[in-house]
Amino acid sequence: MSAQNAHSEWDSPMYLEAVAQFDRVAEFMNLDENIADRLRVPQRATVVSFPFRHDDYATVETLFGYRVQHLTTMGPTKGGIRFDMDVDLGEVAALAMWMTWKCSIVGVPFGGAKGGVRVDPRSLSRAELQRVTRRFTMEIINVIGPQTDIPAPDLGTNEQVMAWLMDTYSQHVGHSVPAVVTGKPPSLGGSIARREATGRGVVSLIPPACAHLDMPVKGSKVAIHGFGNVGRYAAVAASEFGMKVVAVSDISGAVYDDDGLDIDDVAKWVDGNGLLEGYPSADHIEGSALFGVDCDILIPAAIQGVVTADNASDVKARLLVEGANNPTTLAADDLLRSRGVFIVPDILANAGGVTVSYFEWVQDVQAYFWSENEIVGRLREIMTRAFSDVLNIALTENVDMRTAALIKGIQRVTDAKLVRGIFP
Ligand code: NAD
Repeated sequence: MSAQNAHSEWDSPMYLEAVAQFDRVAEFMNLDENIADRLRVPQRATVVSFPFRHDDYATVETLFGYRVQHLTTMGPTKGGIRFDMDVDLGEVAALAMWMTWKCSIVGVPFGGAKGGVRVDPRSLSRAELQRVTRRFTMEIINVIGPQTDIPAPDLGTNEQVMAWLMDTYSQHVGHSVPAVVTGKPPSLGGSIARREATGRGVVSLIPPACAHLDMPVKGSKVAIHGFGNVGRYAAVAASEFGMKVVAVSDISGAVYDDDGLDIDDVAKWVDGNGLLEGYPSADHIEGSALFGVDCDILIPAAIQGVVTADNASDVKARLLVEGANNPTTLAADDLLRSRGVFIVPDILANAGGVTVSYFEWVQDVQAYFWSENEIVGRLREIMTRAFSDVLNIALTENVDMRTAALIKGIQRVTDAKLVRGIFP
């Protein structure tokens, strides 16, 4: 039976959107229907529930966790783990599929995966966060591993969470296995420059995109939604390129200064206070108002589904670079393109994270570590080459950048599936 017609356990608005994107492009590519049918659904999905004891020792809560591996054809699977209240099987399945295309676009030898726990990490003490991480790791221990599936940080998780994951896995197998996870602290075999990689990668595509649009880079006004791992380092990199970062936001709201924010100062405030709330040296606006500020470049770098049909007409930017996964709904995507906004899609724009994760895995497997210059140089080379490949497809096929990126991602995977054949 066709997977298209089958009832699928992971159905959710986000998964259906990922499949709708895929179907649009598969039709355009005239993709073999047998291959398309396999690529629409993940190869393996693990759902777990487990007890989580709160610090008071009296409350025990049942938490739900997920790990979805979309495609095992290309090598081990790879993808982040998020801790967020919106996490469910459908969200994780959609993100796993996007990871497959992302890895394929930048040419790293992984298939896509994603995982997560439905929990609010901000409500947890450090000890609670550690217990959730370690127990979740035990629950999925049989489906992860350095040659099978390699997690990384994502929304609501960080280097520390990855260190606990690595330690739990290593305790279980009886020796240290740094390559089981990427985005670890450098002291544990994490790669230098991994923390900044996604944000840096996002911003590395602005100069080639500006060149294509005949727009200046220096002095361009940038607004960034999100000031976590991706948004913060995108803001730092944009400032280093001479752009003016006029607005950044987090869950508490946004700060705005038309003359450009002092990003080091904003970052210092967030390190000391946790949130942008109360930052004294800029105006405060609603987080959602950030999408309408006067700027040339907009970088959504927080959560999914924030640029919608309702606010797309407020967007003033000419260039939208998607740092977050799936920040733009399909309807908003159509509206923005009809207004001439050039969109660099998530599966290309935020692929710097998985690229440096790949470098980290290679370094861990070989136990041989590279210099920061090598890492940053190779990241820039891979990102700009991927951008120019995707732009070439867009121009040759007369399609938008999202379609072009999907064509590139899907084609490589399809070729690999065809030559591997079907077992048995
Ligand atoms: P993070 O948790 O470090 O930061 C998230 C930011 O978004 C924070 O500033 C937070 O305050 C804000 N935020 C959270 N919930 C929000 C809400 N409901 N409304 C408004 N703002 C909210 O996460 P991150 O690692 O920076 O990831 C951000 C996005 O980038 C996600 O879509 C993630 O999947 C994607 N991504 C991350 C990486 C990576 O390397 N970390 C790589 C590729 C893609």
